[in-house]
Amino acid sequence: MSGSDSVPVEEIAERVRALMPQVRADLEGLTRIPSISLSAYDQATVRASAEATAELLRAEGLSVEIVSEGGRPAVIGHIDGPPGAPTVMLYAHHDVQPTGEESDWDSPPFEPVERDGRLYGRGAADDKAGIMAHVAALRAHAGRLPVGVTVFVEGEEEIGSDSLPTILERHGERLRADAIVLADSMNWAIGEPALTTTLRGMIRVVVTVSTLDHGVHSGMFGGAVPDALMALVRVLAGLHDDAGDLAVEGLRSGHAADLEFSEERLRAESGLLDGVGTIGSDSLLSRLWTKPAATVIGIDAPTVETASNTLVPTARAKVSVRLAPDEDDLHAFERVKEHLVRQAPWGARVEVELEERGLGFAADADGPVYDAARRAFEDAWGRAPVDIGVGGSIPFVAAFAERFPDAAILVTGVEDPDTRAHGANESLHLGEFERVCVAEAILLARLGELAATGAGTERPERR
Ligand SMILES: [Zn+2]
Repeated sequence: MSGSDSVPVEEIAERVRALMPQVRADLEGLTRIPSISLSAYDQATVRASAEATAELLRAEGLSVEIVSEGGRPAVIGHIDGPPGAPTVMLYAHHDVQPTGEESDWDSPPFEPVERDGRLYGRGAADDKAGIMAHVAALRAHAGRLPVGVTVFVEGEEEIGSDSLPTILERHGERLRADAIVLADSMNWAIGEPALTTTLRGMIRVVVTVSTLDHGVHSGMFGGAVPDALMALVRVLAGLHDDAGDLAVEGLRSGHAADLEFSEERLRAESGLLDGVGTIGSDSLLSRLWTKPAATVIGIDAPTVETASNTLVPTARAKVSVRLAPDEDDLHAFERVKEHLVRQAPWGARVEVELEERGLGFAADADGPVYDAARRAFEDAWGRAPVDIGVGGSIPFVAAFAERFPDAAILVTGVEDPDTRAHGANESLHLGEFERVCVAEAILLARLGELAATGAGTERPERR
């Protein structure tokens, strides 16, 4: 830590530590609300979690509004900082994923409980702990906030943030900020903080292959007439080369940061069976974070149980393609479509439809805001954060980057490799959570300093 540092790091950390029992109690309160945003579930619970979130922000002196723009309720709160100080927007989401089979959980998903230093419950990490990290940072600076703060807590992240573009369009002016902290990602390991600087984009396509205008007897015609399922299998097989690299040409591809990530860790985290190899070339992290990848995620065909001796006339598959962080999703769709159509054997008809798309994200991870964040993380963890990528796509990050091109975007998070977000037994590591809260509180102070010393911004003296 630099000697000229005027941010009282230890004092802020102490304040946050003293706040943690109440922060945790409030986190448990939020976790008890089963705010599953998927339509099949009671949406009154999502409204209730929006209201509970709004209440927590009001208690910190923010002016708060709950907005819905055709989707689930989002919470927007704001509190001014000192004159001349920058404004920081803090994002999290208050909706959660369904629980899956409750019998797969070791304790009821909406009754948070601590075991071995972790707090178990659906949403205990993703992303109600993100909300509470923001609240903790506000509480740590109660009455003397070093920056203006806008909190934006979305209510439909888990179902794809469909109304987010409309919210950003209609309420964008209120959300405008110099720095944006999106707390919905992860750290690299327990005790090893990370900033997520790249996310892959994605497209999802449906491939339909047809060879016949109706099903016919496989004994009468098999051997001369191709069935659609066999043709589909060949089309899908053409997605990869023999090494398992994506065979589609014209797609972008990058290299991930050189971090230690062993095949053993990949095997353990993914559940890869003994004897089954990995696919693709380049480092594992490049394959997971910065190169394109395709997976067949569903096939419509007769089931084995009910199959009859019939040549299948039409079959279809759903293919999910992850894209390099800087790839254009529509360009990628055209390349993938062209490639799949070209694989058609025997003149089989192949149609490819775009079902969903989302841009990736590649942060401009330099500059004063990133410097402030790296120092704040180092203050909280005692070691500098690593830059990580995430192989998955978080469409809202691209939405913010597009809407606020001048803001520095920090993707932070409370998760660790054992969190199991979206799975059974989701949990939050409480020790890491405290460091996340400390880091965010220090970050606000460091961003406040930035305005005082940077770019000639005048700021009046205050206590
Ligand atoms: Zn999340």
